Amino acid sequence: MIAAMHIKKDIEIKNTTLAKSATYRNFPMVPRVVFGEDGFDQLGDILMPKRKSSEAPFIFLVDAVFEGRELENRIPSIFNDQIIFISADEEPKTTQVDALAERILTKFTELPSGIVGIGGGTLLDLAKAVSIVLTNKGGAAAYQGWDLVQNAAIYHVGIPTISGTGAEVSRTTVLLGPEKKLGINSDFTTFDQVILDPNLTKGVSKNQWFFTGMDCYIHCIESLNGTYLNAFSQSYGEKALELCEEIFLGDLCPSESRDKLMMASWHGGMSIAYSQVGVAHAMSYGLSYLLGARHGIGNCLVFQHLTEFYPEGVALFDKMRERHGIELPKGVCENLRDSDFDVMISVAMGMDPLWENALGKNWRETITPEKLRSIYMKI
Ligand code: NAD
Ligand code: ZN
Repeated sequence: MIAAMHIKKDIEIKNTTLAKSATYRNFPMVPRVVFGEDGFDQLGDILMPKRKSSEAPFIFLVDAVFEGRELENRIPSIFNDQIIFISADEEPKTTQVDALAERILTKFTELPSGIVGIGGGTLLDLAKAVSIVLTNKGGAAAYQGWDLVQNAAIYHVGIPTISGTGAEVSRTTVLLGPEKKLGINSDFTTFDQVILDPNLTKGVSKNQWFFTGMDCYIHCIESLNGTYLNAFSQSYGEKALELCEEIFLGDLCPSESRDKLMMASWHGGMSIAYSQVGVAHAMSYGLSYLLGARHGIGNCLVFQHLTEFYPEGVALFDKMRERHGIELPKGVCENLRDSDFDVMISVAMGMDPLWENALGKNWRETITPEKLRSIYMKI
């Protein structure tokens, strides 16, 4: 009973932050998911009943790393379907989403039957955002925020090819806009279908595997150590953390490791769905906004210096990094000007819910511009 009351209180705190009108958040989950090696080959059968007509294509947004590779031939494109290869070298932008939607609307007489995103967090987020902008006027930037999307998105499918972000399961798509880097958080953002095929992650480089994998690990640490924690988040977070320890410190064979990292990513994403991330993510947003640091590595660059907030989490992170011989860049903020630090600090301090989760309602007593500057200067 005491535990139940505790959970209720925590969830109410969360609700006042994110959804003022409801007592408990009624958030969507991915309704359909395939898991297993080569599950990708079921895609054609899955899409067939979703085809509205031969004139309404499926649009496959695919990470350019797969162009000319074997996977390209396995994409079940028929009729006037289109495969668009997109580089994941830069994180997705609102202008990029708008240009893609415009290109699709100009080329076809009918709205597509659906959008399929194949790639990492970058491609998954682009697929989610394009599916929203196709049915909502005014461009992607207008929907950055919480629950601003009016109309249901078109059918959209997510197929991750690298594991860790939890973008396959989340109700957000993180975009760099003209003024801010912020997600389109809405009930319409979540995928209608996900295919988890661990074999698709085979070609990922070791560094990228580690950085994106650590995104998952950091989701767990920030969720499990946050003030928003509740039994829902805890149960997913603990499972994901256990899997991360097996993957990054155990002796799994490669296929088991791929399977488990895919499930860790899923559980980590589920954990933060009903809680929030914390200090590393808030500060990493600042790094990413100013320097274009990618999400996974940006989180690692910050997290290594957060012993004061997450002592056990950082100690374990160091162990994992050493075990895999991963070197993080040094001197990243060395030559920045005062005005640059001000930009990063202002972006980071704007992430109120993340700080409140990390440190409670009085977070401003601990987190000052000077404090953040001193951490950024170590990076
Ligand atoms: P990514 O999509 O940025 O890709 C990282 C690199 O890995 C790229 O070079 C890509 O080409 C390569 N890659 C991907 N799959 C590969 C494969 N199978 N073989 C070889 N190379 C492969 O990576 P990410 O870390 O998954 O995503 C980061 C993005 O996710 C950021 O834009 C971040 O904002 C976003 N994100 C979104 C959410 C969400 O809930 N929506 C959560 C966390 C992060
Ligand atoms: Zn993250």
